[in-house]
Amino acid sequence: MTHNFFAGPAILPQEVLAKASAAARNLEEMGLSILEISHRSDFFKGVMDDAVNTCKRLLNIPDDYAVLFLTGGASSQFYMVPMNILKSDETAAYVDTGTWSTKAIKEAKMFGNVETIASSKEDNYTSIPNIDGMDLSQYRYLHITSNNTIFGTQYDEFPEVNTRLVCDMSSDIFSRPFDVTKFDVVYAGAQKNMGPAGTTLVIVKKDILDKVDRPIPTMLNYSTHVAKNSGFNTHPVFPIYVSMLTMQWVEKQGGVTAMVARNSEKADALYAEIDRNALFTANINGQDRSKMNVTFQLKNADLNDAFLTHCKEHNLLGLKGHRSVGGFRASIYNAMELDSVKVLVQAMQSFESHHA
Ligand SMILES: *Cc1c(COP(=O)(O)O)cnc(C)c1O
Repeated sequence: MTHNFFAGPAILPQEVLAKASAAARNLEEMGLSILEISHRSDFFKGVMDDAVNTCKRLLNIPDDYAVLFLTGGASSQFYMVPMNILKSDETAAYVDTGTWSTKAIKEAKMFGNVETIASSKEDNYTSIPNIDGMDLSQYRYLHITSNNTIFGTQYDEFPEVNTRLVCDMSSDIFSRPFDVTKFDVVYAGAQKNMGPAGTTLVIVKKDILDKVDRPIPTMLNYSTHVAKNSGFNTHPVFPIYVSMLTMQWVEKQGGVTAMVARNSEKADALYAEIDRNALFTANINGQDRSKMNVTFQLKNADLNDAFLTHCKEHNLLGLKGHRSVGGFRASIYNAMELDSVKVLVQAMQSFESHHA
């Protein structure tokens, strides 16, 4: 068995892969493959409704929010958010917690004023800045990144703020409950914790739309997709279908609350080994440690290649850290089983016994 620690596209539940492959051959309901049916068919309309409704149930989303499945990745949300909700004379606040926030900031500057109100850049993004108590009422919104996929930090608790909150949850959506009503926009590319690459979940509070006066291309206007239930143009049928299956799987496991217990168990086991093992070190500490992307280093970087080879021999794949950080990264999303983390922990222990 291969253990998939890749950061994204990433692991999916085995049960989802089995259903998705069966549907790629033949949907019993239609006698056709999911890949060759109309996005206007009743079958796919049912899939879309199931995807939206399962998402609403999992995250307890009230009716004044729209749940959209768009294309263009989370990266397109970096510009769609300010294009749709920031007037050119308004200012948006951003917290800079690494690569993805930096990219979001760059795009927002094309549409209005942007202030980076806090950043962990000086400590190489090894922490989440504390913004408690800051007065943000002059800003149109505050943008944060809930889990920093590359650096391995995560908001343990979301900040209480006195402005609208926009959040990139690409790499930890459905990993824990949160109060949607504290947010005006939440978005997530599917390929980390929700499904295959090709669709992006956007949860948007409807009453913030249609307030800016710039012209917005039809495809980039949230209101287009709200009015058409994400179906203005051809849906990414297969990514939405597999995302729906994954959300149903989460629900069957007991929902996002069950994911908290599942993910904590895995993260605790792995961080405990990193902290115990004489060869390894973690550069993220305390409550800022991500439960989705665990980053760690060998104290002696000369052993890096040997460790990756050792991992490969144990069928542990995808552990090389992002090129901008180095070291190692174990992505342990919802779908990963505790057993796979245990295999990694054992490999770290056997590596230690060879090299101590
Ligand atoms: C992967 C990732 C993105 C980019 O997603 P795309 O779908 O590739 O555009 C943005 N934000 C975060 C936090 C990510 O992990």
